[in-house]
Amino acid sequence: MKSRSVCRVKPDHAAATAAARAERGRWVLACIYFSSASAKSAAHCVPGAERMPAYQPAGAYEAYAAPCDDGTALWVRYVAEEEPVPAMPDGMTVRVRHDGDGPGYSGVGIHTVTISTRCPRCGGPRGYDAIRPHRFHHDGAWFTVDRWTNPCGHTDLYEAVLSEARERPLPATTPAEAPAAPAADSPAGLILAAAKARRVHHAKQAAQLLDDRGHHTEAERIRAEIKARHGHLSAKQAVGLLLSHDQPEGGTR
Ligand SMILES: [Zn+2]
Repeated sequence: MKSRSVCRVKPDHAAATAAARAERGRWVLACIYFSSASAKSAAHCVPGAERMPAYQPAGAYEAYAAPCDDGTALWVRYVAEEEPVPAMPDGMTVRVRHDGDGPGYSGVGIHTVTISTRCPRCGGPRGYDAIRPHRFHHDGAWFTVDRWTNPCGHTDLYEAVLSEARERPLPATTPAEAPAAPAADSPAGLILAAAKARRVHHAKQAAQLLDDRGHHTEAERIRAEIKARHGHLSAKQAVGLLLSHDQPEGGTR
């Protein structure tokens, strides 16, 4: 019985490793897989040369999988011996020209966007390490954009780059904005200060504190929540309750 191949073309890892060894640090296309899972699995196996003996000894090669026109490409490079090879960044930030979305001329604008360092056509590395500024004159003003040459030979057009940037998910590491501290004389601020000084612990005490200071509406809101939670509400949770009510839903603008 013949098993279905997972690759578009019969992979020749011996040829890929030979080409990679010929120029240490240069990424070489090793294979194109039908499924991204197969390509990712191969990229995972290459560094340890697991189940892929062409990449022995372990640690001699790096690999990554990237989408390409025909599926998912496996790119490898030889990194053994000598100095460490600089890592390829995930994204590159570039300035591109945008002439407006509407029909007809609507002025020239420059957008700074972050895109993948992998070519969308073949998955190979873009010219991320040789980005150069290009100045141009338009309508009496000077603009600066970035230009780069991809080693694979595919050309990136600004419009395609802009739409790629729009689809690119935001970096996972973007820190969440810290909530603003409540004003000291606001109901939440009063409870927070009292809780920090250990004068109130339970939300019931917090509600009493607000009553004493004339914030009866907020005190009632806390009491209602205490009841809804069968008494399980701390003073600090009461602060959270008041603050969550003050802020608009999903406030990312
Ligand atoms: Zn390419």
